[in-house]
Amino acid sequence: PVELNFLSLLTGCFATPVAENPTVAMVEAAYRAMGLDARYINCDVAPADLGDAVRGARAMGWRGFNCSLPHKVAVIDFIDELAPSAEIIGAVNCVINEDGRLIGENTDGKGFLASLKTVTDPRGKHVVVLGAGGASRAIAVETALAGAASITVVNRDAARGKAVVQLVAAHTSAAAEFVPLKDDYVVPGETDILINATSIGLFPGVNDLPAVDFTSLRPGLVVADVIPNPPHTAFLRTAETHGAITLDGLGMLVNQGVIGIRLWAGREPDAKVMRGALEAVFGA
Ligand code: NDP
Repeated sequence: PVELNFLSLLTGCFATPVAENPTVAMVEAAYRAMGLDARYINCDVAPADLGDAVRGARAMGWRGFNCSLPHKVAVIDFIDELAPSAEIIGAVNCVINEDGRLIGENTDGKGFLASLKTVTDPRGKHVVVLGAGGASRAIAVETALAGAASITVVNRDAARGKAVVQLVAAHTSAAAEFVPLKDDYVVPGETDILINATSIGLFPGVNDLPAVDFTSLRPGLVVADVIPNPPHTAFLRTAETHGAITLDGLGMLVNQGVIGIRLWAGREPDAKVMRGALEAVFGA
């Protein structure tokens, strides 16, 4: 007699729109490479249906799910607990079902941090973040919690920029400052890490650049982009011509996926397989 088990580990993503979200390709490639009987299913969930979707996932014994736009804040009303950094950031993009208790994590900033640590440790570093949306919030908080000396948030909308600065100041020991984005931003000489956390450069606006004075970049500066599509953005290409060490948005996306799979499956996926799957998707 053979023991039969046709019950897959169920995971997925709740978002709308969701059809173009490539995380499924990366996560399922990892599951296959791990020999794991697991699925990741994209579900197009309207805002009014989010509660039902979460209750459905709970009822069907899903092991967890990602939440993408527009559900990252709203999902908090339907889960049981928040992990510490998700609580500070005020947004959840990854939920884990621990014996019926739904725990909300934020892996956006953690994924960025894991990617950043492949080139530098943010401890004691001066960090400049362009943008003040959800990605910026997660990156600013997580980098500050990892010991950055200072976080400077540069943004067009002052209220959003100041809100991120207040979050960092209230919950971390990093110095935090807001700078309004006006003409071309001159990157201060003491800056160690410059991050584009705006949506500038995302397909189809692939030639758009954040308003930065690129002549102010010193050689050896670490320059990172959150944009996954295209991975090699105009921002990174321009920074490279000024001697910067660059990190693309695929690294952040892959590492978020690694953290999610670790939390859901309790095992380490192969990050190279995951990056390969995304590169195939983006034709990189
Ligand atoms: P939001 O819409 O919340 O924020 C966008 C930010 O970009 C705002 O600060 C906005 O400024 C700024 N911005 C947009 N257009 C301009 C412009 N023309 N000039 C100046 N500033 C501009 O988006 P998110 O934070 O959720 O996402 C940002 C990017 O990060 C997206 O492209 C997304 O694809 C990417 N991302 C990547 C991830 C990864 O794993 N690689 C994970 C999550 C997100 P203002 O406040 O003034 O409007």
